[in-house]
This record gives sequence, structure tokens and C-alpha cells, in this order.
Amino acid sequence: MKLVVLKFGGTSVADVPQIKKIALKIKAEVKKDNKVIAVVSAMSGVTNNLIDQVKKTSENFSYSEYDTVVSSGEQVTSALLAIALEELSIKARSWLGWQVPIFTDDIYGKAVIKNIETENISKSLENGFVAIVSGFQGVSNNNRITTLGRGGSDTSAVALAAAFSADRCDIFTDVDGVYTTDPRIVKDAKKLDYVTYEEMLELASQGAKVLQTRSVALAMKYSINLRVLSSFEDLPGTFIIKEGHSMEKFEISGIAHSLNEAKITISGVPDRPGQAAEVFGALADSSINVDMIVQSSPINHESTDITFTIQETDLLEAEEIIKSIQRNIGFRKFTSETNVVKISVIGNAMRTQSGMAKTMFETLAKNQINIHVISTSEIKISVLISSDYYELAMRSLHTAFGLDK
Ligand code: ASP
Ligand code: MG
Repeated sequence: MKLVVLKFGGTSVADVPQIKKIALKIKAEVKKDNKVIAVVSAMSGVTNNLIDQVKKTSENFSYSEYDTVVSSGEQVTSALLAIALEELSIKARSWLGWQVPIFTDDIYGKAVIKNIETENISKSLENGFVAIVSGFQGVSNNNRITTLGRGGSDTSAVALAAAFSADRCDIFTDVDGVYTTDPRIVKDAKKLDYVTYEEMLELASQGAKVLQTRSVALAMKYSINLRVLSSFEDLPGTFIIKEGHSMEKFEISGIAHSLNEAKITISGVPDRPGQAAEVFGALADSSINVDMIVQSSPINHESTDITFTIQETDLLEAEEIIKSIQRNIGFRKFTSETNVVKISVIGNAMRTQSGMAKTMFETLAKNQINIHVISTSEIKISVLISSDYYELAMRSLHTAFGLDK
């Protein structure tokens, strides 16, 4: 007898007819003699709506109340799905985060799972019930409801799969898998049959939205048998696997883009130790996440320029911080820009194959696309370019790396 975790996203539980279809899918698993833990999102649009209502009520709300409001969408879908299963004569019950319980820290709005108690659900599964768990939510030490950040139901599912040592964790969504790039932008984008955890981690964190980044990190840590597949079509989807399994023949696996980037350049920074520490220390103190960083080489040991990128939503705060340290550091000026996009090419093969950077930069040059900032990791090259050219960049890179086929 196998234990499977099946996660259904917002579009898969968008209305009652959809929920009834999902119930049939779960019934099929039960008939195969599998124990099933199903994890559900809120109906699509519901979470956004709840967040709007909180924001309309106050500009200065407490995040513990915010979590109590925004977690409610998942409460509805979990119980509706349990009812739909009972309608099919399948024993099922809904579980809210605190009923499992799924313990988290108390960073409301983006809580981290600390521990999942398996006893209650295990008993229920033994008694032949399907467990339908509300995704996205947990409970803090202070006995308050928490949520795991947007897209957090993926993380709920993977964490449950880890806690219960599930045989597999299937993430059902509205696309049939992970693509080489965004098919809305590049019409020749291809579905990948396999992608490694590390590639998926880079794809997710560089802007591909199919899985919450944290869920991929967790899946990698616990070697979860993870798959992304369509809840509307009966197709195998994309398996997320360890390195070393049979891989695609492509040089790279995917091209991701991230639109909400902002670039800041600080010019005329005195060339002496401690300046970068002061800039990035001040940003870190305000929990502003810095992504790409370049510092120019100083001419005659006089001054340097430091350029870096952050999330666009942090820009106003970052500008205030930089103004506040200008006098202390004594830099000449700073400028910021928001019409920039980060494009990343990602692939395990980069570890061993040379010439990836060459292909990337030559392709951009051929298309007259200027590069503002470059950063790399073992399996990724990212460039920051003007937002006017990002679609052209994605299409031409997709072709240049042989992904169009
Ligand atoms: N409903 C939550 C959201 O929209 C969690 C999820 O769907 O994963 O972010
Ligand atoms: Mg999602």
C-alpha cells in the first residue's frame, strides 16, 4: 500500500464542478489501494480578494489577523472536497493547519514550517479516510494561524510528503508541466520531461512561477519524488529529480525572466575598505534582499561605482537608506532604474560544458541588446537588460541554445 500526496492549485478547485472532478481523481487513487493525503489551495482569485479586503480595512494591519483572513480560502476548499468525496462514498475528512497540527514559527505572512505531527492523520488514514489538508497554513507557538507566503500550498504538500515519507508528491496545476521558458512569450517553449532539483530551484527563484521556491528546496532536502502535472489532461507532467538520472540532451534546461527588478548605481564611492559592507549592511538591516552586485575597478585608487539589483517593491525604502548613508560614505551620487528585466539561462550542463556564456553574450550582442549587470552561479548565468528587449532576448536565447528544436 502506497501513500501519496496530491496537491491541487487554485484553478484545479476553482468551483464546485472542478472540485467534483478532483474528487473523482482522488477516488481513482483510493481504488488503487493507495492512502491519500490531498492538499488544496483556495479557489483561484480568492486569496487575492481576501488580501484586498484586509488592505481596504487598514493600511497598518497586524499580520496575525491578516493570516487568519487569508488562510480562510483553503478552509472552504478542503471541506468542499471532503464533502464531494463522501458524495462518491469515499471516506474523507478535512484538516486545517492547526488540526494536523503543522507547527510554524511566528513570522506571520511568511511563516516557516518547524514540525508536522503525523499521529492524528496517520490514525485517520489507517481507518480508511482520505485526509484533505488546507494548504498554505499552519499554527504558531502562540496558538495563532500562520500562512506560508504566496504559493505556499506547494510547500505544505512537500512538507507533508516529507513528514509522512510519501511515495510520491504530485502537484496538480493548470499547465502540463515545467517549460523551457514562458510559453506565453516564446511560442516554441517545450515541456520538460525531467528537471533536476537544482535547476528547478533556480528556475523557480529566477521567476518561473509553477512551484513556490521554498517547496523545491524542501523537496531537494528530503529527496521527495516530486512531479508537476495538469489536473485537466491525463499527461505525465514533469518529474523533478536528482542529478545523474537520464537527462534531456539540451545544453540548458530553461530560460527564466523576472520583471520586478530595480537597479541602483552608487557612483564615486571612495576606494577604501568597508564601503561595500556599509552599503549592504544598511540594506540588510532593513531586510532588503540584494540580488546582483557589480563593483567597477577603481582608477588610481580613487573611487569606484557599485551597481546592484533589488526587488522593485523595496526601491523606495532602499533609496531612503542610501540617502541616509551618503554623508557618512561620501559617495558622489546614486541613480536608480526600474525598467529592467533579469533573464537567466539555467542548466546543469553548465558545470561541465564551456561556451555557455559566449553563446549567451553573442546572442544578445547580435540583437543589439545591452547588458547592464551580469551574475553567475554554477548552473546559471543571469543578465540584467532593458525591459524593452526582454521578449526578444528570451526568444533569441531559446533558439540559440537549441531549445526550439
Ligand atoms: N492560496 C494561496 C495563494 O494564492 C496559497 C497557494 O495557492 O499556494 O498564494
Ligand atoms: Mg501556485
